[in-house]
Amino acid sequence: MPLALIIKQLEWLLGASELSSERLTSLLSRRFHSAYFSRYRRILIYQRIRVISALFALLTLAWIPIDWLLLPTQTALGLTGLRLLSAGLFLFLALTDSQQSEPCQFRLTLLFINPLLFYLAALNQLQGLDVAGWGQYLAEVYGLLPFIALAGLCIFPLTLLESLGLGLLPLLATLVSPVLVSDPSQYGFISHGWMLVLILGVTLLATSIQLNFMLSLLHRISYDPLTRVFSRSTGNELIDLYFHLSLDQESPFALAFVDLDRFKSINDDYGHEMGDEALRNAAHALGQQFRRSDMVIRWGGEEFLVIFPNTDMAGVRLVLERLSQNWLGQRPDGAPLTASIGVAERLSDGINDWPQLLELADKRMYQAKQTGRAKVVLNAEQEIRSPQTEGGS
Ligand code: GH3
Ligand code: MG
Ligand code: MG
Repeated sequence: MPLALIIKQLEWLLGASELSSERLTSLLSRRFHSAYFSRYRRILIYQRIRVISALFALLTLAWIPIDWLLLPTQTALGLTGLRLLSAGLFLFLALTDSQQSEPCQFRLTLLFINPLLFYLAALNQLQGLDVAGWGQYLAEVYGLLPFIALAGLCIFPLTLLESLGLGLLPLLATLVSPVLVSDPSQYGFISHGWMLVLILGVTLLATSIQLNFMLSLLHRISYDPLTRVFSRSTGNELIDLYFHLSLDQESPFALAFVDLDRFKSINDDYGHEMGDEALRNAAHALGQQFRRSDMVIRWGGEEFLVIFPNTDMAGVRLVLERLSQNWLGQRPDGAPLTASIGVAERLSDGINDWPQLLELADKRMYQAKQTGRAKVVLNAEQEIRSPQTEGGS
């Protein structure tokens, strides 16, 4: 089947109107997620782990009287011990919070391994058990635990690789179960294994739909509708996130404040529509100039902020020198659309608070404006002038 047809089918299944290659890779592996998206997804996964764990802790404990009612004392006693251990781990996951210090994948794995270990240990307890009626029915219910674990996976927005890694665990537990019981056919492990493979297929689809929905939603609320660069509210969060990452990693972090020059005259002379068009082109040109990791934010009407994580002053200088060759598209009269740009960098400016860094970049932008426009002010000594720089005002 040609690739295009497969993608069409996927679009249909995921309820997406158009799957870009970027979206497809994001659905495949978390390595392709931005730090911004990862943070949101981690918070959501953590919250769901806690709710599910609390629920499972209660259910695990609630079954204890049923075991005592329907199973022989010795078996019920062994199962109660296992239930207390399992509920203890669920309670740990429900009550502790370590969002900062560990990846959510570790907790997710604990959440899934817990019922599966309980399943294998319970099978061991139940082997050779001679019960009839409701007792036998109860013993068979234990054999369904891998299905419950797999179904639980569906509520998480996971990548295909994550779902596959976790989804194979219930299958693995079912396939090794014959080692623990004397009569494997009693548990129908082959038919259970086959059913689990089918459910795994549905689970992969369910987790991908969730992830795709989350990616779409965040994409929609994060971007400015006119220019398609990050909106100011998202920009605030991005700056905060990357600034703190740079503090933790002791790496550089630079900001550029970009204000388009004499923009009002485009509106005045050619109308608001042409002004909008020039704004869109300027935002697009800004995005084209930078690396994938750099981020463009529409900060105000004709003002943009660019975040350069992990970039020192020399790196920013290089990029902005290139930008000041062609500037940001053209004005309707064919002249280059120039900007006044102020830059500030955390390490070289010795600032440990991002609002102050932003203020400094803004101040330098104003300095560029005051001293001729079409210019980048890097610090008190360095600036990049371009042929379009006016004589000064
Ligand atoms: P300067 O070089 O001093 O920055 O001059 P300027 O004209 O760029 O600055 P000023 O602050 O005087 O005007 C900014 C203009 O940007 C005014 C406003 O009409 C225009 N503007 C802001 N947002 C939009 C928008 O979304 N669409 C359009 N078409 N124009 C906008
Ligand atoms: Mg302005
Ligand atoms: Mg302006």
